Amino acid sequence: MSPGRRWRDRPRFDTRAVHGGNASPLEACSGSPLSLPIVQSSTYSFDSPEEMVEVLSGARAGYIYSRYDNPTIHAVEEKLAALEGGDRALLFSSGLAAIHAALWSRSRDGGRLIAGRDLYGGTISLMEQLLPRLGIAISRIDLADPAAVEREIRGGACAIFLETPTNPLLRIVDGPGVARVARDAGIPVIVDNTFATPVLQNPLEWGAELVLHSATKYLGGHSDLTLGVAVGSDATIARLEHVRRTLGGSADPFAGWLLNRGLATLPIRVRRQSETAARLAAMLESEPTVSKVHYPGLASHPGHAIARRQMNGFGGMLSFELRGGLDAAMEFLRGLCCVRIATSLGGVESVASHPVTSSHRMVDPESRKAAGITDGLIRLSAGLEDPEDLIDDLRSALRRTQPASK
Ligand code: PLP
Repeated sequence: MSPGRRWRDRPRFDTRAVHGGNASPLEACSGSPLSLPIVQSSTYSFDSPEEMVEVLSGARAGYIYSRYDNPTIHAVEEKLAALEGGDRALLFSSGLAAIHAALWSRSRDGGRLIAGRDLYGGTISLMEQLLPRLGIAISRIDLADPAAVEREIRGGACAIFLETPTNPLLRIVDGPGVARVARDAGIPVIVDNTFATPVLQNPLEWGAELVLHSATKYLGGHSDLTLGVAVGSDATIARLEHVRRTLGGSADPFAGWLLNRGLATLPIRVRRQSETAARLAAMLESEPTVSKVHYPGLASHPGHAIARRQMNGFGGMLSFELRGGLDAAMEFLRGLCCVRIATSLGGVESVASHPVTSSHRMVDPESRKAAGITDGLIRLSAGLEDPEDLIDDLRSALRRTQPASK
């Protein structure tokens, strides 16, 4: 925002998406750039060693080294904090780098993390394959079951990690409910808000300590960058900043610039993608070759009532199960034309993926089964194409999955 003019103390969400944190990293001058400048420098020079020591010690504001902080990245972080309603945000080189740093900062030697059963496959691999080597145990449970949550908390835990809606089954966790139980027990809640985005829900308002995103997805929105973000209070982010500095995983300024550009259209993209996903979900529910549609906007979804309470819309992601299992899933994907086959989501292009062979390929089959991820499951990310073209495309691909009539 221009510091000289204050036309509203707290601009509305869409205005923050365009202007939040856009103070120029260049010195104030007449005619400052309207587009955020990219400060493509790994390090910063000083006029004297004393000045450098002052900046290093925090006695004077400034930049030292881009693994610590960078003016372009800093401006985007301010916008992200304004969108999620936190004091500060930190950008990371990827969503998983943000998740790793967050879990690291909250883990204790010999501690135990409680996590949802249904999560992004890379997060499950991190939790099941790497963190145990550091002495961090993980209990993955059904977070929709309050009794199970309380039981696990009573058994001692250092944090709760959850996604809602979850990847890939779009399950809904009662965010405020889990945050309440965790607060009573004095443990923090970390929410991966990638699927919902701050347009649809703000977990910090529920009492979560930290909100994370794969900014690679909706926040960037154009399938052209890889970044992650964490948002929280000053104290939480200060702790995490130390971890980012020490583990690495800092963000690149050009990717940060792309993210800033994507964020300006985040609200209109997400609202339109949510409308399209709702239409696709309703269409799929009436298709005979589809046995189940997972979309929280459908009245048939078990988390529909909770989603209505805690979200401002149901999002652009859905998944569905084909009666014909693995063969039908492969045939369906081969039949797509407008919808692209890819493993990411949240971009302007509609994308379909098969979790068992892509995002959840690395997850142990038993763990996949326990989460309810079947061979016939297809995950769909609604893009910005004309919804009628998407409906035609899906219908024609579904026809290929029909068993041949005798
Ligand atoms: N969280 C969710 C819900 C995801 O779907 C993904 C990636 O697909 C990640 C985190 C990891 O993000 P990234 O690929 O940016 O590391």
